[in-house]
Amino acid sequence: MSYKKFYQNDEVIKGDLHLHTTASDGRYSPEKVVEFAYEKGVRVLAITDHDTTAGLSAAKKKTQEYGLDFIPGIELSTTYAKHEVHILGYYIDENNEEMQENLQEIAYSRISRVKKIVSKIKELGYPLTYEDVKKKSSSGTIGRPHIALAMMDYGIINDVEEAFEKYLNPGCPAFVPRYRLTPQDAVLLITKAGGVPVLAHPGLDFPEHLLPELVSYGLKGIEVFHPSHSREIEENYYHQACHYELIITGGSDFHGHTKEDWQHFGEMRNPVKTIQYLKEMWKENSCD
Ligand code: AMP
Ligand code: ZN
Ligand code: FE
Ligand code: FE
Repeated sequence: MSYKKFYQNDEVIKGDLHLHTTASDGRYSPEKVVEFAYEKGVRVLAITDHDTTAGLSAAKKKTQEYGLDFIPGIELSTTYAKHEVHILGYYIDENNEEMQENLQEIAYSRISRVKKIVSKIKELGYPLTYEDVKKKSSSGTIGRPHIALAMMDYGIINDVEEAFEKYLNPGCPAFVPRYRLTPQDAVLLITKAGGVPVLAHPGLDFPEHLLPELVSYGLKGIEVFHPSHSREIEENYYHQACHYELIITGGSDFHGHTKEDWQHFGEMRNPVKTIQYLKEMWKENSCD
């Protein structure tokens, strides 16, 4: 693969490689997200729900109806020295046993974490229950955004952001740390499940010095284009990707809850070569 030439002329495809659905903390069902993507003219998309593959088969079916290129994905939440690091996995085999065992364990620990957070909020004098939070999560991955939505119903806070700032972020009165999967574990797990591991939104909370180690574990790409990234961050990670010969990806991280979500949906850059390169990596991995 002649990587160096890959990104030189940067022909861009209308794609979105980072989308959330009701299978985790997105607002819309997998079918709806595919439908919206189609209406927006997106040609290739990946569903990347937090710690679950539950939305993939419904999304895949819908993309077939619309004739879109579908990439089954996931976004694994990990922690590294108090940093929140997310690893995207593209083309994972959702039937992979080790992956599903890990996801099951993560799901159990998410439930007990949410219960602990709810009791802390109760101790602060608010009548929140686990059932209130559960109702906000439909049947998917449960997490802090669902707690925030339930708190809004009680008028404890006015928006999701306020819930994180006052109660849910590290250092706040209702914070409880989550199950500890490391970024290294996530890279290995995705690779073993036949997928291509890509570092999500490094501009958010990624300790840059960890990059070479993740590359040595088998990291294959960086999400250079993300709504939270400034031009400088984009440039920095673009160069890092070139240095380590990593795939450059872009995704809107659409959840469907805010106006900004809609502005970015389908609008992040994805070089044509990105899709081709992801496919090549996937095939290489599955032949091992
Ligand atoms: P959890 O997986 O339960 O730890 O919740 C983390 C998720 O909450 C992230 O993946 C985001 O989707 C969302 N999130 C994190 N911080 C904020 C914030 N300040 N405002 C809104 N959503 C957030
Ligand atoms: Zn999310
Ligand atoms: Fe993320
Ligand atoms: Fe995300």
